[in-house]
Amino acid sequence: MSTTDSTALTAPLSMSRLRADLTGRVIAPGDDDYDQARTVVYGGIDRRPAVIVKVADIDDVAAVVRLARETGLELAIRSGGHSNAGHSVSEGGIVLDLSDMKGIDIDVDGRTAWCETGMTALDVTNAVGAHGLAVAFGDTGSVGIGGITLGGGVGYLVRKFGLTIDALLAADVVTADGERLEVDAEHHPDLFWAIRGGGGNFGVATRFKYRLHELPETLGGLLILPANAETVAGFIAAAEAAPDELSTIANVMPCPPLPFVPAEHHGELVIFGLITYGGDPAAGERVVAPLRALAEPLADLLVAQPYAAMYPPEDPDYHPTAVARTMFIDRVDGDVAAQIMGWLEKSDASMRVTQLRVLGGAMARVPDDATAFAHRSSRIMVNVAAFYEGPDDKAVRKAWVDGFSADLEQEDTGAYVNFLSDEGEERVRAAYPGETWDRLAAIKARYDPTNLFRLNQNIPPAR
Ligand SMILES: Cc1cc2nc3c(=O)[nH]c(=O)nc-3n(C[C@H](O)[C@H](O)[C@H](O)COP(=O)(O)OP(=O)(O)OC[C@H]3O[C@@H](n4cnc5c(N)ncnc54)[C@H](O)[C@@H]3O)c2cc1C
Repeated sequence: MSTTDSTALTAPLSMSRLRADLTGRVIAPGDDDYDQARTVVYGGIDRRPAVIVKVADIDDVAAVVRLARETGLELAIRSGGHSNAGHSVSEGGIVLDLSDMKGIDIDVDGRTAWCETGMTALDVTNAVGAHGLAVAFGDTGSVGIGGITLGGGVGYLVRKFGLTIDALLAADVVTADGERLEVDAEHHPDLFWAIRGGGGNFGVATRFKYRLHELPETLGGLLILPANAETVAGFIAAAEAAPDELSTIANVMPCPPLPFVPAEHHGELVIFGLITYGGDPAAGERVVAPLRALAEPLADLLVAQPYAAMYPPEDPDYHPTAVARTMFIDRVDGDVAAQIMGWLEKSDASMRVTQLRVLGGAMARVPDDATAFAHRSSRIMVNVAAFYEGPDDKAVRKAWVDGFSADLEQEDTGAYVNFLSDEGEERVRAAYPGETWDRLAAIKARYDPTNLFRLNQNIPPAR
């Protein structure tokens, strides 16, 4: 039986009532699958919600939103569960888990797809890829389309097709008062602006309509080069000089013990380059030549492949504990590259990484104020991260990340919301600089005046 607006869920957390009223699965403490259902991607997050609802449809979503409003319990929204801050699980509250909602409706001729927000980047990429089409998501297949899209979406095709939100044509959203809105450039344009970068602050998105790009083939994969100041600076210079078809992610980090890399290089600092040329692979070979020429590659797995091959299989039981800081910088010249190498060399964390993503291209051709993602002219996104084992080690690794990122700071003081951890209001404001914050706060006041959707990188409603 599906719940309608007229059947209010007034009895707070009567599990039998919830189970009767909702179509989806209701999981409570003591249920066999409770521990599995409360687990999120990042390790070290051990919260015990009062209930987890694996919603089946938009009626369930509206009912759970209403339940949160009526009980006052904290509401966590989960699509793929990758929030760095652990925002998709609540201590003592309600988890609205969309992961069973995986419906997709592809209009191949019209080059659009409606996708339910329980889908992952890989789910959508595989489904549309079967038609030679693509949406630009991030670097990890298991990331939910809910979180990545609402925050912006920076990935392997960012220079070719822009951010994920640049392909967003419309969305279905359940607002704090349980209303279902169809949102696009003509209908609720303020909300449509806000959900393109403003995160989960404004309602629960149940479906997204994406424009699909033609992408029958790519040249892509992994290129591992030895890391030193020259190769790191050279990699960034080559990536910046390349045409928009090329997007790169340079992870400067200790080489993992990969079977295809000679053992003597395991643990050495390398550029673990994830590379996509979104076009004819033969042309791509010419474009990646300057990267290959930087040094004798330790591994060169760049091949002509369908785009979905950029998302290798993942271990669902992998829950790393890490501290990280996201930022933008303007340049990686020889001095900055030497600075990066110096910080990486002086840490002994089992895994430590400086991730450098050259931006620009299609992403930068959209005006800063066209969406709530306000970093269109940022040049390079950097994520500094270190894995840790236990609380004492966490303090050591955090001090390293803090020192490193402070040292690396240049003129661009912005931050990308989807890579923020739990870092306080100042950092959320860095994600929404200047007028963006005021505009978002005003829209928040209109659609969520009581801040029901607050377990997120929160934008409180304007007073
Ligand atoms: C391993 C890893 C790799 C990543 N790589 C990239 C990358 O390459 N590019 C990039 O841009 N980002 C990347 N990210 C960041 C990622 O985009 C964010 O963590 C994003 O929020 C995750 O989305 P999710 O749905 O999986 O997460 P969840 O934890 O399920 O959701 C995160 C938050 O988003 C909101 N939310 C999610 N779905 C909805 C919805 N349907 N309606 C309303 N609110 C919702 C909620 O506030 C929720 O707390 C990566 C993260 C990880 C852990």
